[in-house]
Amino acid sequence: MKTEIIPVGTEILLGNIVDTDSSFLASELSSLGLDLYFISTVGDNHDRLFDTLKRAWERAGLIIVTGGLGPTQDDITREAIGMLVDEELRVDEALWQELRNLFSRYPGRIPEGNTKQAAVIPSAQVIHNSMGTAPGWWVEKDGHIIIALPGPPEEMKLMWQESVRPRLKQKTGEAIILSRTIKTFQVAEARVDELVAPISGLSNPTLATYINPDGVYLRITAKAQRREEAESLVRRTEEQVRAMLASHIWGVDDETLESVVGDLLRSRELRLATMESCTAGLLCTTVAGGRESCIFYRGGLLACSHEAKTALGVGVQPGEPHGEENLKVAKAMAETARQSLNADIGLGVGGRLSCDTNSGDVFTAIVWDEFDMTHTHRVRGNHLRMKQRATYAALFDLRRVLLERRINAPDH
Ligand code: ATP
Repeated sequence: MKTEIIPVGTEILLGNIVDTDSSFLASELSSLGLDLYFISTVGDNHDRLFDTLKRAWERAGLIIVTGGLGPTQDDITREAIGMLVDEELRVDEALWQELRNLFSRYPGRIPEGNTKQAAVIPSAQVIHNSMGTAPGWWVEKDGHIIIALPGPPEEMKLMWQESVRPRLKQKTGEAIILSRTIKTFQVAEARVDELVAPISGLSNPTLATYINPDGVYLRITAKAQRREEAESLVRRTEEQVRAMLASHIWGVDDETLESVVGDLLRSRELRLATMESCTAGLLCTTVAGGRESCIFYRGGLLACSHEAKTALGVGVQPGEPHGEENLKVAKAMAETARQSLNADIGLGVGGRLSCDTNSGDVFTAIVWDEFDMTHTHRVRGNHLRMKQRATYAALFDLRRVLLERRINAPDH
């Protein structure tokens, strides 16, 4: 069934609120195997909402409208749907009584405007709202389904989960969409595209690439009537993708780089300590966010100035902006962290990030008993993006070292 979402609200068009209702509904529809073709946002304007509904009616079997179900003059969703299906709104006495009961718990009289919320058209079935005063509608007419839900996300989600989703699932059968996200690093998006070109023209599963601070992700999405069928489609394509991207892949789906690196450290009983400057604490926060980090992470030092570095025990001074000295500083930071926090491995990250040019050089160092390595990385983007890239670059370096060199824990 072709589907369209219509979020109603001038607030969305003015940029005052973010349309999170649509992103929630989009992922729900996809998990039900329903094809979402359009999200058409419209303000609180009767004519424009009517036009938008009419266009959706011409091209979709299922239309989901969110917002505009409140008691005020500018809440016009019910009227517009009534006009679309050419049915008159009448106050439903049982529903009106329900609303009155709800209001009787609070002091004061129920505002007259609330009768609007008890109005229905003959083909609307009411969707109960246990969190607010705006009931939803399920309308079926001429082979179309229109579902109207209130705008507040908690109300909308609850009504969706309790009433709408189960009912839609019954109607659509078990068609499902499954996705698998393959996470890669140190390879450009265009290169990923090129490498998977032999299978990228498929219509089922489909492939999509997108960039994240921790690398390029490739999402495989398969659609089938049965779960096993979708799983097997995803699995087969994943095998092909793995053969094509092999060494660039570091994780899948919800896996995070910090957990992947943390698992490697934990399995070898290694303890890590970090010292950072330009990442301003992000390295520490990220590593500490890894699965069971308290087992492998001793902690992190932060020094935002040379004085602070010196005070913490870093004996090397930086030289020229791009000089070798920077790598020596990163190495001294890694060694300082390792020693002062009593760890097996020290990871140091320093660098210069320029907000004027939106680019910077990051120097990473990994120090262990028997060996050390340093690296320079070029990062680009706004300040936050550069800090993220620097953090992930350091973690990628650490992952590579752990995989390439069979570092094991000394006897503690
Ligand atoms: P109410 O009975 O609360 O008036 P309503 O159905 O009329 O419900 P709106 O008045 O359109 O909903 O929106 C109420 C609030 O819900 C908005 O101020 C906003 O905070 C939130 N909201 C509305 N639409 C969305 C949306 N698409 N995504 C996220 N939040 C939304």
